[in-house]
Amino acid sequence: IAMYGAKKESNRRFKFYTSDMRNRVSSDMLRSALEKNELQLYYQPKVNAVTKTIEGMETLLRWSNSKYGAISPMEFIPLAEETGLIIPIGEWVLKRACLQNRKWQDLGYNPIRVAVNISSIQFMQPDFTRVVKKTLEETKLNEKYLELEITESVALNKEEEVIEKLLMLKDMGIQISIDDFGTGYSSLSYLQRLPVDSLKIDRSFIKNIGSDSTIIKMIIGMAQSLELSIVAEGVETKEQLDYLMNLGCKYMQGYLFSRPVPAEKFEKLLADNGII
Ligand code: C2E
Ligand code: CA
Ligand code: CA
Ligand code: CA
Repeated sequence: IAMYGAKKESNRRFKFYTSDMRNRVSSDMLRSALEKNELQLYYQPKVNAVTKTIEGMETLLRWSNSKYGAISPMEFIPLAEETGLIIPIGEWVLKRACLQNRKWQDLGYNPIRVAVNISSIQFMQPDFTRVVKKTLEETKLNEKYLELEITESVALNKEEEVIEKLLMLKDMGIQISIDDFGTGYSSLSYLQRLPVDSLKIDRSFIKNIGSDSTIIKMIIGMAQSLELSIVAEGVETKEQLDYLMNLGCKYMQGYLFSRPVPAEKFEKLLADNGII
């Protein structure tokens, strides 16, 4: 499906941040960020809007630099991808997220799944599945509590290789979701061949609820016919919540429930029985 609106918007955003980024952050700064402990993980709840309980969480990377303060992942992830630093950074994120989730389980909180964003460059590394397996072993996190979020673009080139990797990950018991769904160009038949568990509807479509919701309806219909579960991202208003519920979409993320928060704060949410 051609979802031209969102694609155009994300291209523009990317260009803007790219030029901004060149003035601000260098690859040396990013390289030393890992060593200097400037990277931190935040977590945002994935909520069941019917029961108002936290069903999972998404890991979001934060960088706080001594000179520039907070730098957005929209700025530094593209830089990390260009320089290859996304590999060590991505591995660090995966390990820390698994460790944190395991720690919360050890503390007795109701076990939930942690989702980690995987850059397509990281995903396409020949040893990616081995790294994931090793990380689960080292952190002793049960594989069913890990979810990987990949974008449609990963899926679009080298189809056979991608499908083979996804099957290996699924065989290991890991959940896979397609992030920012609707902003790429995947066809229904292509999607049908991808062994994934869920689709995350991109925020740009949620924003349009009220004016144009054709695409949302289409995506939800598509997910239902493929028996994929669906998560709406960037839910900010009660109107959006009600609208999505009416369409049968009950899993959501967004500021309406909670912004991404540091681990200590997320733990408080878990301590409230995960009711948000
Ligand atoms: P994403 O994976 O689509 O993550 C969702 C983004 O939407 C996050 O931005 C989140 O803070 C934001 N968000 C969540 N709810 C709302 C809402 O209700 N309203 C609005 N306006 N925004 C909301 P963030 O944290 O700035 O991350 C931006 C992007 O950077 C992510 O988009 C993801 O593509 C990338 N990213 C972040 N962390 C990682 C990481 O560890 N690895 C990789 N490879 N990419 C990451
Ligand atoms: Ca994501
Ligand atoms: Ca997303
Ligand atoms: Ca996004």
